[in-house]
Amino acid sequence: MDHFSYKNGEMHAEDVPLSRIATEVGTPVYVYSTATLQRHFRVFSDAFSGLNALVCFAVKANSNQAVLSTLAREGAGADVVSVGELERALRAGIPADRIVFSGVGKKPSEMRRALEAGIKQFNVESEPELEALDLVAGKMGVIAPVSLRVNPDVDAKTHHKIATGKSENKFGIAWDHAPEVYNKIKELPNVRATGVDVHIGSQLTDLAPFKLAFEKVVGLVKSLRSAGHDIEHIDLGGGLGIPYDPDAETPPHPLAYGDMIKSVLGDLPCSIILEPGRLIAGNAGILLSEMLYVKQGEDRLFYIVDAAMNDLLRPAMYEAFHHISPVTEPGDNAQNAQVSADFVGPVCETGDTFAKARKTVPMSPGDLVAFKSAGAYGAVMASTYNSRELVPEVLVKGAEYAVVRARPSLDDMIGLDSVPDWLSD
Ligand SMILES: *Cc1c(COP(=O)(O)O)cnc(C)c1O
Repeated sequence: MDHFSYKNGEMHAEDVPLSRIATEVGTPVYVYSTATLQRHFRVFSDAFSGLNALVCFAVKANSNQAVLSTLAREGAGADVVSVGELERALRAGIPADRIVFSGVGKKPSEMRRALEAGIKQFNVESEPELEALDLVAGKMGVIAPVSLRVNPDVDAKTHHKIATGKSENKFGIAWDHAPEVYNKIKELPNVRATGVDVHIGSQLTDLAPFKLAFEKVVGLVKSLRSAGHDIEHIDLGGGLGIPYDPDAETPPHPLAYGDMIKSVLGDLPCSIILEPGRLIAGNAGILLSEMLYVKQGEDRLFYIVDAAMNDLLRPAMYEAFHHISPVTEPGDNAQNAQVSADFVGPVCETGDTFAKARKTVPMSPGDLVAFKSAGAYGAVMASTYNSRELVPEVLVKGAEYAVVRARPSLDDMIGLDSVPDWLSD
């Protein structure tokens, strides 16, 4: 459930008409709903009631400071994958002891900063990384808490670019090798094993792969414990999908996911960490855009909008589906006059196509459209390709809204470059 719906013939974000944001901030612009973020966080957290669970929002899904601050107030922890995300989480008020650091390529400087801040754990993905962390911690005179990210070799049955749990993926430590690396942790003086970590992919719409992976991990935890390793918690990663297209996919409810985890854990005394990203932020945001031109091609209709692949990369990168809804509520006449159109942006790439042959009510230049489910992996992936201004972000709360990332001016953008002396005269 989200808080983007029609009221008085027009789509609102909570109680703010989207047309007002378009007029006052301009398009394209991301619009997030506070109530939806809160609701998703609470529904997800409630699914783990009764367990000792820490929910760490995957910051890479949406790293806006206002979104992170909203979630910090809900008690969220953070899963970060760079020192930049770590600083964002800390500055948003997420306590260091609720932050886990994931990713295959942490640099020593990033490890140092995270140790200095006192994060909860490093999710370590290789032996060389483990050795590097041991060195950094040793120089600082501290012990680094470590979970090894294990690769369970499970097919997540999702888009190949967001599947991470097969042996051919770059992620995690090979399953059969994991016990050896835990033994290695014991030999190294400045790292301590506190948990086991797994994350098999994103936008999973079926519980079966999760269950397979979690069962393997629970088995591993038991055998590690009997070998004398002090495993305190299991980090189960993120990945639960959302209904981008309810006609095509019906991902399990967080409650079913929580129940599955409870049943796999059984009576194993163990705390758990969860790292949802998309599930919290995805349906809490839309990308608002204006129709520029209607172009009748040789054999198809093009709707050219002012948003482009640099603002929302998912369709170009993952063949992702986003509902495209008119901001003005269509009447019966419009509903009966549906057309098929390709929604495209202004960027000079054929890949800059949001939807092909999409059934839609007829639209005209000047109409506003909302790309739904764009709150996760939307603004964070935006670029200035084609020297387009970085897309701004707005957060709505009830009848209020705030610009939480302003559109930069062209002067700001061009001013980031500098021309060397030999070209300036
Ligand atoms: C991307 C990622 C997540 C979040 O995935 P979602 O599908 O957005 O829930 C969690 N953990 C790790 C390690 C990730 O790489």
